[in-house]
This record gives sequence, structure tokens and C-alpha cells, in this order.
Amino acid sequence: MKITSHVYLVGGAGQTDPADAAIYLMISDGAAALVDAGTGGGAERLMKNIQKAGADPRAVRYLFLTHCHYDHTGGAERVRRDTGCEIVAHELDAVFLEEGDSEVTAASWYRAWMEPLKVDITVSGAKQLFTVGSLEVAFYHAPGHSPGSSILTVRSDGKLVLFGQDVHGPLNDSLRSVREDYVRSLEFMLSLEADILCEGHFGVYVGREKVRDFIESFL
Ligand SMILES: [Zn+2]
Ligand SMILES: [Zn+2]
Repeated sequence: MKITSHVYLVGGAGQTDPADAAIYLMISDGAAALVDAGTGGGAERLMKNIQKAGADPRAVRYLFLTHCHYDHTGGAERVRRDTGCEIVAHELDAVFLEEGDSEVTAASWYRAWMEPLKVDITVSGAKQLFTVGSLEVAFYHAPGHSPGSSILTVRSDGKLVLFGQDVHGPLNDSLRSVREDYVRSLEFMLSLEADILCEGHFGVYVGREKVRDFIESFL
């Protein structure tokens, strides 16, 4: 599904595997990047969808992981193998991936194990910029749902696209969620005034008002 001329939905419950969170693809000037990887249950369908969107899987430079949860990361190693990309995650969630913590990554919720996953680029601090073709991708730490939860933005077709993923939470002690951080992160997302929100489980919201209403509904 095309969202803008650079952004596509290429995976998720309806596209790759019923347990997958949404997987988004950015393409620009022969380079590409993915936002999250799903569980891996639909790895072959994911590669087909990347090709259908017009990208060569070998052009995927980065796999940005918005947080450590299994429905977003279980397929990460397979994506790295299939594309040769580098895996990016915030350091505060990378630790749970590298240790293969099935509790904090919620793999146990899916009756699965989190295999220890090497993260190639760990983001520390509040913000890091990446380049994908002519796109400037901003990776922001937005904790709350998990300690290292992060969001990304990119400008495409004159619109600010926000990859919020698990904007809706949930908050849970076993996930090390922190309510005050979550509220602060929602407020930060509102301050971005994004035109399009790509969510992890609730689909794509188009229009500033719809994006604001959705984020505000969790405050
Ligand atoms: Zn999720
Ligand atoms: Zn999550």
C-alpha cells in the first residue's frame, strides 16, 4: 500500500503474518529502509512486498526498530540476512534484544523465544539523523511503552510522516512501561504536528487533525 511517493506499508497483520505489527518501507533514489520487521512469520511475503513497492531488497540500508517487542523485531535477523541492512535501535531497548529477553520483548506473549539479536547501530540520547537517498530520517527517543521506544519522522511530498508505531501502548510492568514517560512522549508527538501517522497496529492516519485526535485519545 502506497502512503506517499516515498513511503509504503509492506507488512502487518493483513499483509505478512497475523501476529506482525505494521512494517513500513521508505524508498528514495535507489536506497531504502524499513521501519520494524514483524515476527518473521511472513518473511518471504515481506520481500515480495518490498519488490512490489519498487525496491530491490538489497537496497535496504537500515532496519529501524521502534522498540524491542517481538511483533516488531522477531523477524529482524531474517531481514538482515535477506537484505544486508544494518539494524538500528535505541540503546535502552537494544539491551533486551541483545540479551534475548523473552519477557521484556513480549516474545512470551506470542509463545515464542527472542533469539539474541545483534544491533548494528545503537542510538543513545534524544535524537539521531539518518540519510536514505534524498530523505532525512529523524530517529527520536520516545520512551514509555518500553524504555527505548522510539519514533521516526521523514518529510515526503511536502508532508511530515510520523512513524509512531505503538502510540497506543499498552503500558505494562513486565514491559517496563513508565506512564509519565509515555505521556511526555505523546505530548512530544503532538508537538511535531505530523500530517500522516503510521501506527503499529491501528493503520495509517492521514491529515493533521486525524493524527492529533488519535494521539490525544491516549492522553
Ligand atoms: Zn506492537
Ligand atoms: Zn510494543
